Amino acid sequence: MVSFELTREQKMAQKMFRDFAETEIRPLVRDMDEAEELDMDLLAKMQKYGFFGIPYGKEYGGCGGDVMTYALAMEEVSKVDASVGITMSVHTSLCCSCIAENGTEEQKQKFLRPLVDGSKFGCFGLTEPSAGTDASGVLTTADKDGDFYVLNGQKVFTTNSGFADIFIIFALTDKALGGAKGMSAFIVPRETPGIAVGKNIPRMGIRAASNCEVALTDVRVPKENLLAVEGKGYKIAMGALAGGRIGIGAQCVGIAQGAIDEAIKYVKERKQFGKEIAKFQNTQFTLALMQTKTDAARYMVWRAATAKDNHENYTSLAAECKLFASDVAMEVTRAAVQLFGGYGYSREYPVEKKLRDAKITEIYEGTSEAMKMIVGGGMLR
Ligand SMILES: Cc1cc2nc3c(=O)[nH]c(=O)nc-3n(C[C@H](O)[C@H](O)[C@H](O)COP(=O)(O)OP(=O)(O)OC[C@H]3O[C@@H](n4cnc5c(N)ncnc54)[C@H](O)[C@@H]3O)c2cc1C
Repeated sequence: MVSFELTREQKMAQKMFRDFAETEIRPLVRDMDEAEELDMDLLAKMQKYGFFGIPYGKEYGGCGGDVMTYALAMEEVSKVDASVGITMSVHTSLCCSCIAENGTEEQKQKFLRPLVDGSKFGCFGLTEPSAGTDASGVLTTADKDGDFYVLNGQKVFTTNSGFADIFIIFALTDKALGGAKGMSAFIVPRETPGIAVGKNIPRMGIRAASNCEVALTDVRVPKENLLAVEGKGYKIAMGALAGGRIGIGAQCVGIAQGAIDEAIKYVKERKQFGKEIAKFQNTQFTLALMQTKTDAARYMVWRAATAKDNHENYTSLAAECKLFASDVAMEVTRAAVQLFGGYGYSREYPVEKKLRDAKITEIYEGTSEAMKMIVGGGMLR
């Protein structure tokens, strides 16, 4: 059952995330976006505060929170800066979850623990130049050689790869079977010889985040670093992405709410025709729709998070919340820029960045079209 009331612990955590985002992240946002680089001291501080291990057990050094609390963190952080939000999301929902949900106890102690206790960063390398929505088109190979697998291939758009310590890499262990059945998932430490991380890919939005190409040339990975069994890679990737979409839904809500908050301040200050533009009915109606849709998106995120916390099937709910919330993030940020007029288009004001940041939420961790395939396919099964 979805509760519309947060627990006392969740409210306290939400306040902590909000205060941290306001005091520690907000002063750095503009400079990080212009420099197209994250402030690594900020990330180190977030590691210390536990932002990178929220939904993982204390027995592994995590915070022992629920998915709902993680979604609250994603909203609060992304409300201030979506680049920092996606850094958390890829680390937590994509990289760590692969190990938490599929790793052996030994793998969890060796690799999950430092990821969730704030010592290391993780990334997730699935997408390739010719394998995007159709992730089964992966061409990277993993050939068995004694006690090792030798990985060769090319990943693209790998978030966090500029600084990540641990890479989850998806590669074919059986070329004849192809990606859906012949793909496997490997834990690859950054220092493994043969990994070459390219430059940050210049982007429209979430410009501060790290997002690079990763080339793998004869990367020797010990067989102990295979997750689960050979051939389970596609399932592992799809499982991680299904959970990740709850965090991206929360990111969308944060981006939208951040734009609304900025718009409210602005319309009370800006005067035209001798009065504040807040007094025009069009302004009030626009704000009303912005908030209504954002609230609806937030409850869809909470519904999916609650289902995951209750160990219910959440795949379709997560896809629905991402599909809807990303659309809302686009609509709300576009409306916010409109309320700011020409100043909204100027980089001197904060809302154009939110519009740029919102667009990626319709693309990564599955495009909106892919979300429709998941939801529609589920309805007809
Ligand atoms: C900033 C950023 C960060 C990212 N981070 C990561 C990461 O950390 N790790 C990772 O592995 N990947 C990452 N990605 C990759 C991302 O998940 C893919 O870009 C996304 O899944 C879409 O794949 P594509 O870009 O190849 O587009 P394509 O799959 O080529 O799609 C192009 C268009 O065709 C549509 N389309 C495709 N197939 C169908 C179909 N069957 N029916 C209808 N329409 C269809 C798509 O919806 C889209 O509109 C990131 C991407 C970006 C831009």
